[in-house]
Amino acid sequence: MKSTHATMKKLLRLHQSSATHWVGDGFPVRPVFNYNDLGRELSPFLLLDYAAPHRFAPASARRGVGGHPHKGFETVTVAYQGELEHRDSSGGGGKIGAGDVQWMTAGRGIVHEEFHSADFTRHGGTLQMVQLWVNLRAQDKTAAPRYQTLLKTQIPTVTLPQDAGTVRVIAGGVGGGHGPAKTFTPINLWDVDLRAGQSAELPLPDGHTTAFLLLSGEVTVNGGKTAREGDLALFARAGGGIAVAAKSAAKLLVMSGEPIDEPIVGHGPFVMNSRAEIQQAFEEYQLGHMGELV
Ligand code: MN
Repeated sequence: MKSTHATMKKLLRLHQSSATHWVGDGFPVRPVFNYNDLGRELSPFLLLDYAAPHRFAPASARRGVGGHPHKGFETVTVAYQGELEHRDSSGGGGKIGAGDVQWMTAGRGIVHEEFHSADFTRHGGTLQMVQLWVNLRAQDKTAAPRYQTLLKTQIPTVTLPQDAGTVRVIAGGVGGGHGPAKTFTPINLWDVDLRAGQSAELPLPDGHTTAFLLLSGEVTVNGGKTAREGDLALFARAGGGIAVAAKSAAKLLVMSGEPIDEPIVGHGPFVMNSRAEIQQAFEEYQLGHMGELV
């Protein structure tokens, strides 16, 4: 990965989220952003929930969230610690553990459930995960549901120059590594680990929305402000990359994507382009057209 010496993307601000709420009884999340507050600015990204490390005691009943619908976008679940099991009405589903990713296309409509795995429930342990919602263009909102399980072993790891750290390429590409995720529009999703005292320039497309969530550690951004655990750093679309320097060993989830310049109208689990389409989604769900979990 060689430095492009292109103009860096300007850091717009650090967005902090300290509030926590529970999704079902399995996921204590910080709602970092959602389509109602930053949906346009962060297009194509609609929502990010971060479940910081949380210890669960052994239990007999699975914790999580039961059957619920989605339509019009994709949900991307990145597991850092713990183990999850998903199942959906299209027949998709699977188990993901530390380092694995599930990329689910809700498309024209799906019903799914998200639970801790049976093993994790029985033994207990620490859960840490992110769920990111990625919007679809109007033309793709009626796509057939799709389920991609991206196992740790399928996700390439690229070493940063000067051995500053590593990038696991979930989607997109960097330094010769190409992510396994199939996406409808150009997306980069990278799991970046920086060693203490090391720095890196990460090349990202000019014109693309760019942000990162700092999962742990402290980093200086573009030689200026310091981001801390839980911060979302938002960058200008113009520019060819970002620079990060780790004060302490740091873990970042870096995302960039081509903006989708279409209206965003969302309500709960549905994100469409108009209120009429939201109404239609509720009707389709109530009539059972999004399928059911059997
Ligand atoms: Mn869901």
